[in-house]
Amino acid sequence: MFKRIFLTIVIALLALVAVLFFNTFRFTSKQLPIEAVASPEASPSALQHFQEAIRYKTISNGDPSLFDSTQFLSFHHFLETAYPKVHSTMTKEKVADYSLLFKWEGKNPALKPIVLMAHQDVVPIEEATRTMWSVDPFAGEVKEDFIWGRGTADDKINLISIMEGAEKLITENFQPERTIYFAFGHDEELGGSGARGTVALLKSRNITADLVLDEGGIVTKDKIPGMTKPVALIGTSEKGYLSLELTAEKNGGHSSMPEAETSIDILAKALVRLRENPFDATFSESTQGFMEHVGPEMPFLQKIFFANRWLFEGVIIGIYEESGSGNAIVRTTIAPTIIQAGIKDNVIPTFARATVNFRLLPGDSSINVIKRVNKIINDERVTVKPFNSFIGEPTGVTSENSFAYKKIDKMAKKTFANTITAPFLMIGGTDSRHFSEISEGIIKFSPMTDPIGFHGINERVSIDGYRTTLWFYEQLMRDTK
Ligand SMILES: [Zn+2]
Repeated sequence: MFKRIFLTIVIALLALVAVLFFNTFRFTSKQLPIEAVASPEASPSALQHFQEAIRYKTISNGDPSLFDSTQFLSFHHFLETAYPKVHSTMTKEKVADYSLLFKWEGKNPALKPIVLMAHQDVVPIEEATRTMWSVDPFAGEVKEDFIWGRGTADDKINLISIMEGAEKLITENFQPERTIYFAFGHDEELGGSGARGTVALLKSRNITADLVLDEGGIVTKDKIPGMTKPVALIGTSEKGYLSLELTAEKNGGHSSMPEAETSIDILAKALVRLRENPFDATFSESTQGFMEHVGPEMPFLQKIFFANRWLFEGVIIGIYEESGSGNAIVRTTIAPTIIQAGIKDNVIPTFARATVNFRLLPGDSSINVIKRVNKIINDERVTVKPFNSFIGEPTGVTSENSFAYKKIDKMAKKTFANTITAPFLMIGGTDSRHFSEISEGIIKFSPMTDPIGFHGINERVSIDGYRTTLWFYEQLMRDTK
């Protein structure tokens, strides 16, 4: 009897090992066999233009009264001066006053156009961190082989590289196969009214695009554990955005005679319940695509895990959950961001309010989130309503078989040597989410290697990195077929 049980266990284990190995050996590379083409040096004028672009304080503040239109108009003037051929060859329209839409007519009207996006605006410098910068953030300084300043990585490198590429190609009398639009929003960091206006304009002209390329994933050398090669993260979907305001109400009064529960207690409990009941973790389509592309390139042990997600899903999710950024990849996140109650230290307030920001995994929806939040809080004294900011549902997923994905996959391979490419879920928001009305081929990819200081201190990109960004756009514009 014992012997039979033992034998059964051994056979089951052997079968399991056989299945794991079988799946692992079948888990083969999805990388295109394309060699990178060496990029030329960035010209001195390309470097100067990038430096100058940083000097315009095209800042998106939360407070509209701080909007400085002269900075945007001067920036437009600088573009006209730096890129005369672009301006004489392409048509230019202004949308929502400060967003720019260029059109470069292609040779073949039978092919749908492509749209290259970038945004002109930058986030402000947090006053408390001003002294932590080792350069003036708006000087466009070159130091230690880096270009420094607010907007270098987010997102002027893309805007300037697109303009440099076009100016160079027009100088060679080159005309693209497809029509190419450049859509440069002016308020991406505030939700993108410029991008929305641009989409409305294109839609009114019945224009649909085979590819819309905006900022997003980057090329990273060290952020993927276990990978020795750089990985180009090609964004194929984007999380949604929702803020909810929670209000707890209970008659207040004198703080010398508190009831068993106050509005602040009720609100605090609701927040604790929310945080203690996270949304379920799951692999979205883009994340599954990521594993399918990166997994086969991993060392054997990790490869076994990625090839057998039916068994190891829990283990992989556990690893993702260890960091805030990893956790954001596998679930809709909950972040309390504002809390308000009380006016005086001896008065118990009647109302206590909190704002909670949610980032929705593709497949989730704002209606679902609101339902679930009410269920978890389960307290009639707490009302839940959308906070006074925009709601962005999660985007659809751009197919790996689309023209858009294949084109960017190929161009990434042709630009970045010895690099693995993979689909990717974009955690933050971009202007491109507004373009789903006119394109099914939206890609969120910034062709740059490990930029530093996104929205933070000492933002910078290397001169070497700038060279490859220029090269990526030049090759893309040359090959739009
Ligand atoms: Zn950006």
